[in-house]
Amino acid sequence: MKEKLFSRLEEVYPELVDIRRDLHMHPELSHKEIHTPKKVAKFLTNLGLEVKTDVGGRGVVGILRGHKPGRTVALRADFDALPIQDEKDVEYKSTVPGVMHACGHDIHTAGLLGVAKVLSENKEAIEGNIVFIHQFAEEVIPGGAKFMIQDGCLDGVDVIYGAHVSSRDPLGVVGVNKGYSMANGDTFDIEVSGKGVHAATPHLGVDPLIIGSQLMLNLQQIVSRQVDPLKSAVVTVASFNGGDSYNVIPDKVNIRGTVRTFDEEVRDWVEESIGRIAHSTCSGLGASVKYEYVRGYPAVVNDEKETDRVREIASDLFGKEMVQELPPQMGMEDFAYYLKEVPGTFFWVGGALENDAEVYPHHHPMFNVQEKAMLYIAKLFIASAFDYLASNNPSVAPKKESIR
Ligand code: MN
Repeated sequence: MKEKLFSRLEEVYPELVDIRRDLHMHPELSHKEIHTPKKVAKFLTNLGLEVKTDVGGRGVVGILRGHKPGRTVALRADFDALPIQDEKDVEYKSTVPGVMHACGHDIHTAGLLGVAKVLSENKEAIEGNIVFIHQFAEEVIPGGAKFMIQDGCLDGVDVIYGAHVSSRDPLGVVGVNKGYSMANGDTFDIEVSGKGVHAATPHLGVDPLIIGSQLMLNLQQIVSRQVDPLKSAVVTVASFNGGDSYNVIPDKVNIRGTVRTFDEEVRDWVEESIGRIAHSTCSGLGASVKYEYVRGYPAVVNDEKETDRVREIASDLFGKEMVQELPPQMGMEDFAYYLKEVPGTFFWVGGALENDAEVYPHHHPMFNVQEKAMLYIAKLFIASAFDYLASNNPSVAPKKESIR
């Protein structure tokens, strides 16, 4: 079965390239996707799937019912682009000024449509159901996942897999990790209010620049002196604004930044600690403070069993040397929300361009990947789904044969 599905996948690959390039030329920003979900819905409808649109806002869900009974696997791809000017020189470069698929979500989308196409032609081989989750707005908090889940995209789903292409890793290299994989990502805003005066008479005012600077340094003690060294946290002040002249002490400064953690207790501690330090530093020095902490995506926590499944399948399909165990990273992904509801795993698939000089990080104006990464992602999705369905079918005795 595997050979049949994979050779069909190779046959439809040119079509996937066309879809990917069309998406790449017409990227749409998070929460503003109009044509992308329409294209996805049309494609899935033409395959004969049950299709739901406007799921949680702009999401699209396709449901494929296999001809045999069984469990339900969800496969997820995101489809939003970024506010970045495409600066690479290819015929399919973005036609939308200042908007670009600079994270590879076009690859995810086209790859998953390929899976839908191949599986929809082989319903008789599927023991269970496949739910295709095409998600909007991954890049912007609060993200589309949360709303799609609220709107029922995981109803009846037993397990979920998600993939991300990587511009750094060689083509087809699969990165997995169990447990904490990506971080809780939060933001904070602090406004320090002092008393503005002439810069030559600081004693008549309260200088929020100095107090804010002191506060910024004090915040560095949270990670270095308050968080268990064996646990992880990042507190980064990324913006410090106040004053705009040579000789005026301003009334206030605004400080903004991000917090990354894995552990929920550490997250709670850091949130509380920033507030405590902000209030005590400012009140001790005569300023007042406003503090706001906004929780973004939760941590991505990969299920152990499902991560093992994908690791083994990737080793079987592409070779052991093509699979790497990744350390947790401090980036964030709203795939985390699905994993709070059902077990599953989020893995990385390499698509680095062959010429090292052309390799750029994600979210870079020169970002690009090899389109063949779509085939690797699609094969892993198909093989993982079949393996899960074969080994978890409640209505039949365990089978020896699986797609591996
Ligand atoms: Mn991404």
